[in-house]
Amino acid sequence: MVPFTLTTPPDAVPNADGPTYLAGGTTLADLMKLNVLQPDRVAHLRGFQSTAIEEIDGELWVGAGCTMAALADHPIVRARLPAVRHALILAASPQIRNMATVGGNLLQRTRCPYYRHTEFRCNKREPGSGCDAQEEGADRSLMAVLGTSERCIANYPGDFAVAFAALGGTIETAHPDGNRSISATDLHRLPEDTPHIETVLRPGELISQLVLPLSPAAANGWYCKVRERSSYAFALASAAVGLELDGDRVTSCHIALGGVGTKPWRSPEAEAVLTGQQATDERIEAASEAALADANPPKGTEYKVTLAKRTLAFALKRLRDEGPPDDATLLALQHGREFG
Ligand code: SF4
Repeated sequence: MVPFTLTTPPDAVPNADGPTYLAGGTTLADLMKLNVLQPDRVAHLRGFQSTAIEEIDGELWVGAGCTMAALADHPIVRARLPAVRHALILAASPQIRNMATVGGNLLQRTRCPYYRHTEFRCNKREPGSGCDAQEEGADRSLMAVLGTSERCIANYPGDFAVAFAALGGTIETAHPDGNRSISATDLHRLPEDTPHIETVLRPGELISQLVLPLSPAAANGWYCKVRERSSYAFALASAAVGLELDGDRVTSCHIALGGVGTKPWRSPEAEAVLTGQQATDERIEAASEAALADANPPKGTEYKVTLAKRTLAFALKRLRDEGPPDDATLLALQHGREFG
């Protein structure tokens, strides 16, 4: 690890020329140890950011310093935001969930192995150097199938951000040039020609709050995650879904995919197929087809297109028929007993 200076609040006040922010440290410290990131000044945000969770006018306002564990266990999240609870629980081990903050978790970096090992060429780590993930013989099995570019095919690895995008979340930020609100779907950028610029945040801009609408569709939700092993693994494909039903007619819905996109992948195309329609098996399968219609899988990732369609259809049908899984069912699903 390259030597660095650790500063503390109030040096962490948003500042375009300021230090790199450290929240829970579960991504930054990891990448510093690998020499992937080498900041010379790091500001620890613990004690500086709000950790409060409050319901205000039909929205849940969450301080960015709140841990993943604290948000997952909040009574309002348990009762009215099941997809958020599921995504947080399935995201990581208890140790990580107790350290990682929700603001930091939105900004976690890709798990592309060619990014995380400095002997490989990577446009995200070193702009313009190339992309060894796209060379002959590379292992691309965990890469993205939606939103890729010639410069980068890495997928966004997180779970919580997928549920957050599905449910129409927004973030509030602080910056010396002005605070602002950014929708969850606008926070992450597509890689295009600049994969090293992952979000729309300006240098020194700090996420201060996360805001989640509390809607009937959000209260009837699920985050369904498929992975290589039954715990502590990143999604091969996942679906964050929410349905408001009038009988078997969908009055509103939320759909986003994880594990397959270069960013958390909300699908307005799939939502449009279902909204206002009967939630028949055929309609749900059409929505799943629509969600993956733009897939452009790199060689070795083709399986993810089918997997993501089936994951989404499974999640929607199960939610239609049985509602959100309780914790016992979620954990049974997590360990694979109901995936035949
Ligand atoms: Fe880097 Fe993206 Fe290529 Fe991975 S896919 S090596 S992150 S440029």
